[in-house]
Amino acid sequence: MSAADGPPRPRLVGLTGEYYGWLRRHELRFQRCSGCGRYRHVPRELCAACGSDGFEWAPSSGRGEVFTWTTTYRAMHPRFLEVPFTSVVVELEEGPRVLTSVEGVDEADLRIGLAVRAVFDDVDDELTLLRFLPA
Ligand SMILES: [Zn+2]
Repeated sequence: MSAADGPPRPRLVGLTGEYYGWLRRHELRFQRCSGCGRYRHVPRELCAACGSDGFEWAPSSGRGEVFTWTTTYRAMHPRFLEVPFTSVVVELEEGPRVLTSVEGVDEADLRIGLAVRAVFDDVDDELTLLRFLPA
């Protein structure tokens, strides 16, 4: 399957491109506000808490827990060919939440608070996605 056939991909430009650049190097980093110290995700110019535009790409431990999930049985985009699939929101221990998947766990076994750890999925030569495994 080529990139043109698979699910929609993130545009690797701007702050989003920087975030995926860290994933490409198998480093999980999030913007951490220079004004108030909070992590923010998805990548954006301004801190939602204090309005500062200052930040650093701060490393994350990759440890987190399942915050919530949902399973899609009928895709609303024609390029999501494989259904059902389960989308999971993981809350990292530093605070940011990411929309992702947890591999190796049946939906029936997902639990709020399930401990997970980050892994890097090298999709192809350009794109690495963040996924999780049970810790
Ligand atoms: Zn802030």
